Amino acid sequence: MDVHEALRAICSTGEGYCWYCDRKLPVEEEAISTGWDVQRIEGEGVASIILLCPSCGKLRAERGEEGLLRHLALRMERIPC
Ligand SMILES: [Zn+2]
Repeated sequence: MDVHEALRAICSTGEGYCWYCDRKLPVEEEAISTGWDVQRIEGEGVASIILLCPSCGKLRAERGEEGLLRHLALRMERIPC
């Protein structure tokens, strides 16, 4: 899959958010230059496309999927209501 093509397509809808932290996808040039990533997830009979912002992408590369989810869960607990 061509990441740039996919980013362009998602940017044009204005509905792109990071799968993990809900950060909004910026404009196409910014998304590409800051390192947003697009990944395919194979589910049961369905494949979906998810967006990964630069910070979640970096965390996932360092700690793996589980480490990233744990990090996000901890961060949410610290947000005061
Ligand atoms: Zn994110």
